Amino acid sequence: FDMFVLAFVERLFRPTYRKDDFVLGKKLGEGAFGVVYRASLAKKSSSKKEGDLVLKKATEYGAVEIWMNERVRRACANSCADFVYGFLETSSKKGAEYWLLWRFEGEDTLSDLMQSKEFPYNVETMITGKIQDLPKGLERENRIIQTIMRQLLFALDGLHSTGIVHRDIKPQNVIFSEGSRTFKIIDLGAAADLRVGINYIPKEFLLDPRYAAPEQYIMSTQTPSAPSAPVATALSPVLWQLNLPDRFDIYSSGLIFLQMAIPALHSDNSFIQFKRQLKRCDYDLDAWRKSVEPRASLELRRGFELLDLDGGIGWELLTSMVRYKARKRTSAKAALAHPYFDKEGLLVLSLMQ
Ligand code: ADP
Ligand code: MG
Repeated sequence: FDMFVLAFVERLFRPTYRKDDFVLGKKLGEGAFGVVYRASLAKKSSSKKEGDLVLKKATEYGAVEIWMNERVRRACANSCADFVYGFLETSSKKGAEYWLLWRFEGEDTLSDLMQSKEFPYNVETMITGKIQDLPKGLERENRIIQTIMRQLLFALDGLHSTGIVHRDIKPQNVIFSEGSRTFKIIDLGAAADLRVGINYIPKEFLLDPRYAAPEQYIMSTQTPSAPSAPVATALSPVLWQLNLPDRFDIYSSGLIFLQMAIPALHSDNSFIQFKRQLKRCDYDLDAWRKSVEPRASLELRRGFELLDLDGGIGWELLTSMVRYKARKRTSAKAALAHPYFDKEGLLVLSLMQ
């Protein structure tokens, strides 16, 4: 049995939908390649119970995004938002449009939560389901950030073990799932499945320059070009090992870690300034720290202090993720085994259990 046959059979037994089945709600986002709405099922189709949904109407790249979501659904369902269905909708007015549907996971992305003055305490309440009766301080903040990083790396490890590189990891693409009380990854619109060669040619213009790693191509340009259609000639895992394309996402995740630890870097302006400084230091975080520490603001110093807790183990993890050379960066799996995660994190009280 080949995976495409399995995928086809699995899809046959799932409910199918069409355009008229949905009622559109509030617009949640709009990018160059699609518009995202909150949606629900129209009354006449309510025999199919799906609850609150999210609908993305996408352009030609929607085909790849549907393929990625189908694959995630089968291989690492807990890593990403729960995908419901995807189909092609053609009309004389709008031409071809891909419709993608997910279960509505919750109101907030990590970006929304980081905007709050309460961060990271607002996340603590969402994860544990209660207000903690503990004094606020660095230790507690570190514990919350550690829990978020563990959940993010866990989801990434799932994707990477499946052979998928996300390529657009950023706080806006990490959603808090109210059902499972954990963070999940969304937006596979720029993702690449390197084992089967889907979306193999990197589309740099899709990448967000704020969080993208410095390398231009996530695969070596020496690698023979892979087929562009989902055919069975899977890209060798050996090539994956050689090129380490997954380290692109690790770099972006490291930047998220840094931003969570240092609220002074939450705003777009200060983050852009930081990126400029880092580039001037040849992407060496230690060199950057040395250059800014003498005249650092109180907030910045407090962030360094958090990363220095327990013998500087947080800073150690951070610098193993944010490195210029991809092959020097740690993997998601290795990062999860880092001593930074040895301490107990927050207790997740899942509503599903
Ligand atoms: P875009 O291509 O516009 O970035 P995304 O897939 O990132 O599309 O979705 C845009 C926004 O919609 C997200 O930032 C998030 O706020 C919201 N969103 C997307 N998927 C979900 C989901 N499953 N549950 C809740 N909100 C979602
Ligand atoms: Mg997005």
